[in-house]
Amino acid sequence: MQEEVCGILVDVREYREHDALLKVLCEDGSLMSLSARGVRKVTSKNAPAVQLFTLARLQLNYQETSSMQSLRRAEIINSYRKIREDLMKQSIAAYFCECIHKSGFEDNVYGLLKQSLDILQDAEHPLQLLCLFQAIMNRMHGIEPYVDGCVRCQNMQDIQAVSRRDGGFVCKHCLRSGDHIISRNDLKTFRLLCKAELKHYELLERLEPFTSENFEELYGFFEDYGGIGLKSIRFLRTLFAMEESS
Ligand SMILES: [Zn+2]
Repeated sequence: MQEEVCGILVDVREYREHDALLKVLCEDGSLMSLSARGVRKVTSKNAPAVQLFTLARLQLNYQETSSMQSLRRAEIINSYRKIREDLMKQSIAAYFCECIHKSGFEDNVYGLLKQSLDILQDAEHPLQLLCLFQAIMNRMHGIEPYVDGCVRCQNMQDIQAVSRRDGGFVCKHCLRSGDHIISRNDLKTFRLLCKAELKHYELLERLEPFTSENFEELYGFFEDYGGIGLKSIRFLRTLFAMEESS
């Protein structure tokens, strides 16, 4: 019997007039569905803890026979205030949550999400972290691009482009229309990201700031081969466009 769980809220949906439906990624890696009655009332004591990407301790009205538990009390462990105060960080955190939630991994990804949020709150260059996160997601979905040579001839020299169709680097001799030619520097960044783990974040932060194009290069693989549509990408793209035009 489980009457209390700790976890990160990866999905919060409005339900009826005053209620919400929650998905919680628990410490043990399980994903729990919860109904939270009255949390959208102004007077609700639970409301502050029932927010997307909050790490919370949740007490349940546990019912063994039910697939959906109901929330009794919610207490904030970490609200990630510094993420909430920054629109870009906030939408990146929302993206992390949706990506993890919709991916439905068998592995316990609680640590990955928690660590990503921990890094994000103090990140100087949140895009660097977003790119790294995307590279990790691609790898976990088994769709990481081949970046140890040309995907068509295995040549290690004269790499010039990325082919989404063939799934990796392309050299100048194999270049075809449709391949995406990118700068040497971006090719290097792309390769680095495809190899890096979350623990390498500090090294990445020392590099020149990444751009939304670095992210799109990685996200393109996810979009084409991940088989999951993510809504939060739209708002991220709006923010990218706003930042680039300012
Ligand atoms: Zn080649």
